[in-house]
Amino acid sequence: MQCDENPFLSVQNKIKEICDKLGLGESVYELLKEPERILTVSVPVRMDDGKTRTFIGYRAQHNTVMGPAKGGIRYHPDVSLDEIKALATWMTFKCAVACIPYGGGKGGISCDPTELSSGELERLTRSYVRKIGDFIGPHRDIPAPDVATNPQVMAWIMDEFSKIKGYNVPGIVTGKPVYMGGSLGRNQATGFGVSIITRKVCEILGKDIQKARVAVQGFGNVGSHAALNCHECGVSVTAVAEWDKEIGTFALHNSNGIDISELYLYREREGTIANFPDAEMISMEQFWALKDIDILIPAAMQGSINEKVAEITNARVIVEAANGPTVPEADEILSGRNITVIPDILANSGGVIVSYFEWVQNLSNFYWDEEEVNTKLECIMAKAFENVYKLGEGCKTTMKEAAYMIAIKRIYEAMKIRGIV
Ligand code: NAD
Repeated sequence: MQCDENPFLSVQNKIKEICDKLGLGESVYELLKEPERILTVSVPVRMDDGKTRTFIGYRAQHNTVMGPAKGGIRYHPDVSLDEIKALATWMTFKCAVACIPYGGGKGGISCDPTELSSGELERLTRSYVRKIGDFIGPHRDIPAPDVATNPQVMAWIMDEFSKIKGYNVPGIVTGKPVYMGGSLGRNQATGFGVSIITRKVCEILGKDIQKARVAVQGFGNVGSHAALNCHECGVSVTAVAEWDKEIGTFALHNSNGIDISELYLYREREGTIANFPDAEMISMEQFWALKDIDILIPAAMQGSINEKVAEITNARVIVEAANGPTVPEADEILSGRNITVIPDILANSGGVIVSYFEWVQNLSNFYWDEEEVNTKLECIMAKAFENVYKLGEGCKTTMKEAAYMIAIKRIYEAMKIRGIV
């Protein structure tokens, strides 16, 4: 199969490779290679100028053998059906690695959210919920935030779905604002989880955390909280890359470490991290080739770590905070250069794990304090990391392969016991 840059073809290839490696036979691959259900919808929106525009939206449910589908909703101009199918498939494996009772889902709308007013964004979200309302549900498929969607968008989803049902359904979506059923710790959970993994990586490298140097690509929800938590643990964040509508992509660099708390406040004030006074502005070419980094954290979009980046990076470890940031050809180069890749289905699972906690709290109507959330999150992620690391060492394989082996084996066992395969 030719992957080109299609993430769905590359995840299908990965499933085939792992099924073969585990000796699971053709039927397991046949059951996992396509999502169980896909919905494509037109999403009409009354724009501020009074005209109607129709956007295209999707929702995919990849596999629900372990539980209801779970996965974010993305608003981006490049959203396509294949991208959503790939993201839903990764979610199935992510939930299986963390051992939480969910299958994989994902949704998205092809749109440029930076060009929409807040009112247009709200009408777009509500229109999308009316179209997918029968397809989702707290025991069927539970959305969450992803690129360019946030707690406000989740609140609109919950409100619109509850109106359709005629009663409050907080468990329909996770990542909600705390005062309407959201979980403490959810907003920062993915980035916090990435920092837990970064600490575990330092342990296996035998590296003193206070001496570790990290570069982060993307300063959105995941990247900013990963950087902030790493900074708070004493890790030196020497570079942060971002995209800006005016400038395009660029990066900030300070070999003594950037004060991420200050950068956070600066971004809140200025609406951008460009021209942050305590760092030098550098190009992306310079960012990827930086010498003063041990760990690279891609936290933007899929496909950022291509063959060229894999050849020039000086990082010893890549912690995949984004979904699918490393293309398969780059994985091969990195493995040949002895650079460890901590796969997305392990590294960024903090978000879905705390989403699971939020859903449990909604269904039981009993809410936890933040310490309880973070302690339980750390416990699940540390266990998942150790399982993947041990299997990787035992089988002399990469952590990415080991994570897929654990996930596919667990799903296979569930399918077998249910009589599906
Ligand atoms: P976000 O929209 O909050 O942030 C993305 C950031 O990346 C933005 O600041 C954007 O400007 C920046 N960016 C985009 N292209 C870039 C480029 N080429 N170079 C540098 N910066 C660039 O989205 P997010 O929620 O932080 O998601 C980021 C990634 O993490 C996605 O792959 C998403 O699927 C994944 N993820 C998100 C969550 C979550 O809970 N939000 C959970 C798991 C995985």
